[in-house]
Amino acid sequence: MTKAHIGILAVQGGVREHERTLDQLGVIHRQVRRPEHLKGIDGLILPGGESTTMSRLLELGGLLEPLREALAGGLPAYGTCAGMILLANEALDHRADAQQLNALDITVRRNAFGRQVDSFEAELDFQGIEAPVPAVFIRAPWVERVGEGVEKLATVPAGPSEGAVVAVRQGNVLATSFHPEVTGDTRIHRYFLAMVQKSTARL
Ligand code: GLN
Repeated sequence: MTKAHIGILAVQGGVREHERTLDQLGVIHRQVRRPEHLKGIDGLILPGGESTTMSRLLELGGLLEPLREALAGGLPAYGTCAGMILLANEALDHRADAQQLNALDITVRRNAFGRQVDSFEAELDFQGIEAPVPAVFIRAPWVERVGEGVEKLATVPAGPSEGAVVAVRQGNVLATSFHPEVTGDTRIHRYFLAMVQKSTARL
């Protein structure tokens, strides 16, 4: 489908599910654990996991600044859940010493859906994708503020959290509160790969 080389940030979290999804799509990928692994990739996926731990490991491994630079330089990126939290400019209910990659002008709230609804599923209308997208939320964040130039791509359709923003895009950066990599539905990954393809074409 594509000749793009996709990196998957692999310091912690649900790396394998993204690898499996990319395998399914025939996309070349590699794990990004050290700064040198960023060399030559056309896009980066930041998986779900524990954003405080990921932030700490990025610092310890010397990946934080190289990642910030790559993103500031226009590297296409897709963050799921904890990955969304890392990409955001600001995260609420986060540890004071947690680091942000500042690649998305949004404010997210961690574990926003509350303890009672730790995990749930919903069918979402997703801007740019035709039929509803199945979405699995696991201790997910939501987006409380979007800056100028940030598109809202999906919101929670019903229930106590109706209207909560759960998918956004700003230029080359995509983020979802939920985990398409666990549903077997590859459309959001394909959406991201199309972004990567366009951005490569522009270089
Ligand atoms: N609650 C986690 C965090 O704040 C995110 C959960 C997930 O990635 N599934 O890092």
